[in-house]
Amino acid sequence: MSAQILNGNAIARELRAGIRERVESRAAAGERPPGLAVILVGNDPASEIYVRHKRKDCEEVGFHSNVQHLSANVTQEDLAERIAHLNRDASIDGILVQLPLPGHLDAARIIDLIDPAKDVDGVHPFNIGRLALRRPTLRSCTPKGVMQLLEHTGVPIRGLDATVIGASNHVGRPMGLELLLAGCTVTTAHKFSRDTRAAVSHADIVVSAVGRRDLVPGDWIKPGAIVIDVGITRDDAGKLHGDVCFEEAAERAAWITPVPGGVGPMTRVAMLQNTLLAAEGLVS
Ligand code: NAD
Repeated sequence: MSAQILNGNAIARELRAGIRERVESRAAAGERPPGLAVILVGNDPASEIYVRHKRKDCEEVGFHSNVQHLSANVTQEDLAERIAHLNRDASIDGILVQLPLPGHLDAARIIDLIDPAKDVDGVHPFNIGRLALRRPTLRSCTPKGVMQLLEHTGVPIRGLDATVIGASNHVGRPMGLELLLAGCTVTTAHKFSRDTRAAVSHADIVVSAVGRRDLVPGDWIKPGAIVIDVGITRDDAGKLHGDVCFEEAAERAAWITPVPGGVGPMTRVAMLQNTLLAAEGLVS
């Protein structure tokens, strides 16, 4: 293997320590802890794990957390009312609705109701629009985490060719906007793309966010590229896999993220960073 590993666990640990210090200095100055509210609807096992992680992360850095676990048949109106309440709650700086929601709920309309200044997931149309217009405020967590991994390589990325695989509202689209803002020449491949291999093989930076194991064979990777694997699939034995054939790709890449332990911890820490920014009123 020639690639250097981008160890998201280690980088995120350092970032959490910095957040914890900031929370302590706020407390010493008589300021309240940042507050994160998480709304979980129903009993999706993966969502329950993600919410447990969020609560644990909040504890570690000294944030106040408020997890509301609602029944799977909560109505759109009930959910809207809860969000309106959290929007008014001065102890809450960040509101996150754990997706996916049960099919009878309109997730996009629910997200629209979150105060953009408390949208610490960075998915409200206001915040995505601000990113598109090069005036980012609260940035989507996974792309924000990926940008910090890229920064960690020390490679100047302005002018590089970047290919994002996946075009979802949560990950692929804001990822492309982040890379564009950083001065990359961005290509987005998605399920209708005719030649994803060609889009990947010229890229200096590859970010794959699909959720299909072995989608990106190692021989697609340009020698010396930075490879960021966002995708997650779980096999029958419960083991996690990314989209990229890791061993082969690591023979060619200069930098690569493992799965697990690459992007996941950075997504989590980005949520904490956003909550701190919101608490400090730095999101206008
Ligand atoms: P999504 O299903 O909403 O979007 C998947 C995207 O992949 C779509 O835009 C689709 O067009 C594209 N796609 C599907 N098949 C393709 C193909 N054969 N070639 C090219 N593109 C294809 O998923 P999402 O929410 O964007 O998440 C993507 C993956 O990232 C999932 O595995 C998810 O679990 C993972 N994820 C990881 C983190 C993390 O922190 N590590 C965070 C968010 C999502």
